[in-house]
Amino acid sequence: MKRISEEVAAGRILVSDGAWGTLLQARGLNPGDCPELWCVERPDDVRDIARRYFDAGADMVETNSFGGTRFKLEHFGLAGRVAEINERAAALSREAAGPDRHVIASVGPTGKMLLMGDVTEEELSEAFREQLSALEKGGADACCMETFAATDEAVLAVRAAKEHTALEVICTFTFERTLRGDFRTMMGVGPAEMARALLDAGADIVGTNCGNGMEAMASIVAEIREAAPSAPILVHANAGKPVNIGGVDVFPESPEQMAANAMKVVKAGASIVGGCCGTTPDHIRAIKTAVRNMEREGKGRR
Ligand SMILES: [Zn+2]
Repeated sequence: MKRISEEVAAGRILVSDGAWGTLLQARGLNPGDCPELWCVERPDDVRDIARRYFDAGADMVETNSFGGTRFKLEHFGLAGRVAEINERAAALSREAAGPDRHVIASVGPTGKMLLMGDVTEEELSEAFREQLSALEKGGADACCMETFAATDEAVLAVRAAKEHTALEVICTFTFERTLRGDFRTMMGVGPAEMARALLDAGADIVGTNCGNGMEAMASIVAEIREAAPSAPILVHANAGKPVNIGGVDVFPESPEQMAANAMKVVKAGASIVGGCCGTTPDHIRAIKTAVRNMEREGKGRR
């Protein structure tokens, strides 16, 4: 199988998957439940979510392992099952992917902050190594460190993947628009600074996920593109900005709106587009159609 960055270098625009949490909740995952435990206890549901994204036209799917480090699993008394849960997570997405499509293993932040002295660098590196090794063993060909906000933690995750696995490494940060109108993570990091630090650490693909709808992602992508002219960029956007209706966050963007905005993100420099919170297989199907149309028009021009 070709690497994702090789396909992008050959001029392809790739489509990733959409939300997992949204679909797990629709199947009965309750607030306070451990989503990753479903890899062991509800494997058919987890595999089926991956299948639905591939059926919608995704070129890659994630794994149900976002909270799969020991620091997250220990909240559920599952720190001793990191290897088992992550290996299953990757195996289920691989079963849906078959041999030719990509499985990009999801790795989220640990919730521990180096800055606050919660944890040492060695402990963080070891936690990422433990999770990533299991994801690779289960059949992932890439990993996607996502929703990160702190550069120091993300750099350790990227280095752990590079040093201990052969996985292709994607890393995306979550930015919010500040009152000044620019974009920063919760820890104050901007898109350009993120891109430089992660590429220095060895990341193959950088980008942004969550926090914004597709439209706002275009400015973030433009900033990354300026700082890193040749790096492949991935975007997993929410289905618009959530609106609170009766205590529940509802994501308002329709598949068609999101797909139109995704093409703005591609024009700004992204080569891989998919969804985060509130997105469904219908959103991914619409994005895939828009990408196909764009590629067809591009060929028509040549
Ligand atoms: Zn999200």
